[in-house]
Amino acid sequence: MPFVSDDLLGATIQYLEELKARGVRTVRVSPETLAGLAAPVPRVQAPQPAPFAPSLVAAPPQAAQSVRRDTPVLTGDARLQAIADLRARVMGCVKCAHLVNSRTNVVFGVGNINSELMFVGEAPGADEDRQGEPFVGAAGQLLTKMIQAMGLTRDSVYIANILKCRPDTPGQAYGNRKPTPEEMQTCISWLHEQIDIIRPKVLVGLGGTAIEGLQGKTAGIMRLRGQWHTYRDIPLMPTYHPAFLLRNQAVSEKRKVWEDLLQVMEKLNLPITEKQRAYFLKG
Ligand code: URA
Repeated sequence: MPFVSDDLLGATIQYLEELKARGVRTVRVSPETLAGLAAPVPRVQAPQPAPFAPSLVAAPPQAAQSVRRDTPVLTGDARLQAIADLRARVMGCVKCAHLVNSRTNVVFGVGNINSELMFVGEAPGADEDRQGEPFVGAAGQLLTKMIQAMGLTRDSVYIANILKCRPDTPGQAYGNRKPTPEEMQTCISWLHEQIDIIRPKVLVGLGGTAIEGLQGKTAGIMRLRGQWHTYRDIPLMPTYHPAFLLRNQAVSEKRKVWEDLLQVMEKLNLPITEKQRAYFLKG
């Protein structure tokens, strides 16, 4: 593996040695993970002064005041390259040995990397693990409908999770579990990097665990939702996870989520029709 960094190589060797010591003789590795391991690890470039780095566009002064940024704003091909490089590193991640062993795919994220709107969920479920794409199961189909109700398309926004691997459920053939605080802490730096590259104007946190992962603690989604928060100086709207709406079909709960999304639309100056304003209102 000529292009694997020291850290990654060390962690991989340690992990494989632990497995070997436990008598394991084979490991499952998806073709995508293998490709990620083989991909070149990008060298971290120190930010260059703008005149010497025409492909790195500095944040306009106004944005720089309001948005905390320790990395340069990337546009066009530089942004594409940065996300591809990050993707390659995430695909080869072996930080959580137990999840490396249980996962089928690393679920990086999907959508428009130039979008002003980014949705953040909790972690991949079984469908996402199988397909390598976030929010493709039942909850994902509802999320797609929510996005469409906003007058947008799924591929016009960006969707990612706090955890890039499905939380394992040893001994269980099905079911999901909440990511542990340690798993979230270990994985969150990947999401930081995604957000720093994409620079959405608004983040939507789907469910209490997503907010916990972003903010390190949660006061409970029922209390947090519907109010603007910030995450690394980006406006963050917490709302219910679509899986909650699947379990709880009350129109009043759908309306709450819809009101949160109306606030997001307002923040992004998206057009809102009277019909849209009235969705899920009784009578
Ligand atoms: N739930 C999540 O939080 N993320 C997914 O990708 C799928 C379901």
